[in-house]
Amino acid sequence: MRYNFRIRKDEYIDDYVVDMKCLNCDYEENIPLDILSSFFDPSVDENPALTCPHCDQDLFVPKDIYDQIKGNFVYKVDK
Ligand SMILES: [Zn+2]
Repeated sequence: MRYNFRIRKDEYIDDYVVDMKCLNCDYEENIPLDILSSFFDPSVDENPALTCPHCDQDLFVPKDIYDQIKGNFVYKVDK
């Protein structure tokens, strides 16, 4: 299964960024597209998942993918 996510232009840094969110801890951060691209090879990986800077899990994905995954699967949420 391949996911789609949006890339947007950030006016402050005048560069393209992706809104990222962690599937594990819900930490959010914008990652410049350059950095995401350097970690993500579309020919190899289905999902661009990075290591979360907050909880250290490899579940830091574009927010659009986060929503798609959270909408498709049931996760236990402790809140
Ligand atoms: Zn996290």
